[in-house]
Amino acid sequence: MRYQLTSPYLKGNESKYLRRALSENWISSRGENIIKFERRFAEYLKIPYAIAVTNGTAALHLALLSLGIKEGDEVVVPDLTFAATINAVIYTGATPVIVDIEKDSWCMSPENFKKAITPKTRAVIPVHIYGQPCNMKAISKIALDSGIDMVEDCAEALGAEYNGKKVGLFGKVSCFSFYANKIITTGEGGMCVTKDKRIAERIKLFRDHGMNPHKKYWHIAVGYNYRLTNLQASIGLAQLERIDGLIKHRNRIEDFYRKNLSDISSLVPQRNDLAKRRKVTWLVSFLIKGDKTERDKLIGELFKRGIETRPFFYPLSRMPIYRNFRRNKISIAWEIAQRGINFPTDLNFMDSDLREIIKSIREIYKSK
Ligand SMILES: *Cc1c(COP(=O)(O)O)cnc(C)c1O
Repeated sequence: MRYQLTSPYLKGNESKYLRRALSENWISSRGENIIKFERRFAEYLKIPYAIAVTNGTAALHLALLSLGIKEGDEVVVPDLTFAATINAVIYTGATPVIVDIEKDSWCMSPENFKKAITPKTRAVIPVHIYGQPCNMKAISKIALDSGIDMVEDCAEALGAEYNGKKVGLFGKVSCFSFYANKIITTGEGGMCVTKDKRIAERIKLFRDHGMNPHKKYWHIAVGYNYRLTNLQASIGLAQLERIDGLIKHRNRIEDFYRKNLSDISSLVPQRNDLAKRRKVTWLVSFLIKGDKTERDKLIGELFKRGIETRPFFYPLSRMPIYRNFRRNKISIAWEIAQRGINFPTDLNFMDSDLREIIKSIREIYKSK
């Protein structure tokens, strides 16, 4: 493959901090870089508590546990997301309820969320998909009016804003992922953030085997080992100190695609003009004017030219293991998922690489 969809961009202090942690022998889940990484992440979002964890899925699981979500409860999730969102709900024993998305933002539809509420609904997980913030005003209001806790899934949208406020500041708990292809990476890693001290303490308790923090080896809950290591936090620290530059760099890649493909009417870029929402670029996302066959043909043609792309996530409700969790009719997610494509979004690209990719895409459309 000439051009991968994405790859980690580690051109700052990553290896310096990592080598220092190694040479100081702090390789496990204690060490000052974890504390620093949590503190700086909290400062970046301007939120009191940030708790680093093994990965984004664990962050979601801990968020739900800390809110007391359990068997018999219902948790609303959008149809278009990565499976971790719904899996975390299932881990707690609660029942996920899948709802449709908005046509313009591809995020959870507030109306469909509202329609799915029953007396058992305890939480909702809006997902800021492909870097696009959800309609936080509408979703927050419905949740508040119905006494439902909100957990934001910010795995793909670190730095995005709604109404001038960063995503992650709206939920009771909000969750981030630092997987290799996310906006910042620690290899594998995640973060929970919250304004609530008691929730933060519960997350820490469940992260560390349910062990009483004041009485070692005395367990007061059945917990997990969801700790991040000091080595991973070293990478995270180096990424976080460059976050504004990294986000700008990603946005510039997207702008390059948008500008150079704007005359191809078959390719419709992700909306970046929705009221109150300031998206970030995770993976550059376009819709094909046409159907799945056409989308898959483009993926195949680009593959032949050594360019890796990715179709959008399959809608959860299409997969047999999740199908029964759908409550109302779903149509928009099914349509968007079949028409969506992610183009290579690799910060290691030179401008010439991007030009090559654009050239290939244009050739495919010209020859039609
Ligand atoms: C990546 C991702 C996650 C899970 O994060 P991991 O760190 O891979 O466990 C959760 N939700 C969404 C929307 C994601 O994209």
